[in-house]
Amino acid sequence: MRALRLPGWGLPAILTDVERPSPRDGEVLLRVEAAGLCHSDLHVLDAGPAGMPFPAPFTLGHEIAGRVEAVGPAVTDVALGDPVAVYGPWGCGECPRCRAGMDNYCDRRAELPWAGAGLGRDGGMAEYVLVPSARHLEPIGELDPLQAAPMTDAALTPYHAIQRCRPALGEGSTVAVIGVGGLGHLAIQILRAMTPSRVFAVDVRDEALSLADRCGAHLSTGISGDTSRVLRTASGGHGVDVVLDFVGTDSTLDLSAGSLRADGELVVVGSGGGRLSVRKPGALPQGARISLPFWGTRPELTEVISLGRSGALHVEVERFPLSAALEALARLRSGQLKGRAVIVP
Ligand code: NAD
Ligand code: ZN
Ligand code: ZN
Repeated sequence: MRALRLPGWGLPAILTDVERPSPRDGEVLLRVEAAGLCHSDLHVLDAGPAGMPFPAPFTLGHEIAGRVEAVGPAVTDVALGDPVAVYGPWGCGECPRCRAGMDNYCDRRAELPWAGAGLGRDGGMAEYVLVPSARHLEPIGELDPLQAAPMTDAALTPYHAIQRCRPALGEGSTVAVIGVGGLGHLAIQILRAMTPSRVFAVDVRDEALSLADRCGAHLSTGISGDTSRVLRTASGGHGVDVVLDFVGTDSTLDLSAGSLRADGELVVVGSGGGRLSVRKPGALPQGARISLPFWGTRPELTEVISLGRSGALHVEVERFPLSAALEALARLRSGQLKGRAVIVP
């Protein structure tokens, strides 16, 4: 079968043929119907020869939807043909965190030779993908797999980040969303669907700002020396209650710290490699809380897919056949995509 692979750390991605796997024990083989392309895939490709804390080669693709094609002998609770989305942050399955459905914070993460689907283990940018356990499968019913696949990360990650700061997102609150790409445009929709907050969107691209408007942002602004003043003014002069930074570079972290109110919450989702000093007194306001959420929990994926099925979330999708996966990667890198690129094998 065809697959988009990272052949080794520091090497460019290639489209190649690999053997189609067969499920053993509790494993499930899915025929992939859609696989979303994430900016994290670029971070993986750019990790260089030092790589990430899991070995290559592997097939890329950690946002997956498909149908059950075959199951191992120990699988009892799924039927052939079932349409499902895949919970991607596969953990050890045995530690207290995993047993509570929090594979994203698996206690044995550092010992595992993978971080999830398409991150050390073969992912969904292929005709078939092997899922290690049926517990990672979320039924999607009639939901379009092109919508369901990106919801497993591009919606699940902001959903989890937003759940963690719900107390700060009450009546009269304000929130800044920095970076309105795959994750950011869904963050705006989740905020509008689940909180009374006023939502301010920030991006460097006009296209992303018009997408933010369509997703329900109350205000959208580009980047200038004045952006933190714009955000502070829009939130009554004292700064925003929450910043969700989906970029995470030096400049966006500075903007985040400079836009936050006292007692505000800075949530760093983007893996842009920026640094922010925690210093008293320093750039962060008094009482600031900082968090670095990773992906989302298994029960949250059920909630996200249910929001998707209810019509409350709509992923802006650009569709590519697997044969054009390298072109999709190039377009993501040059900032030419709107919303999420989804590969259809
Ligand atoms: P994306 O490329 O789809 O979107 C990024 C957006 O940020 C684009 O619209 C871009 O124009 C905008 N942007 C870039 N530089 C900017 C700047 N200086 N100021 C304002 N906007 C700027 O990326 P994505 O797939 O949505 O991923 C976003 C980030 O989140 C990536 O770093 C990714 O690796 C990370 N991520 C983290 C997790 C997690 O669990 N923490 C999960 C998924 C993705
Ligand atoms: Zn991702
Ligand atoms: Zn675990």
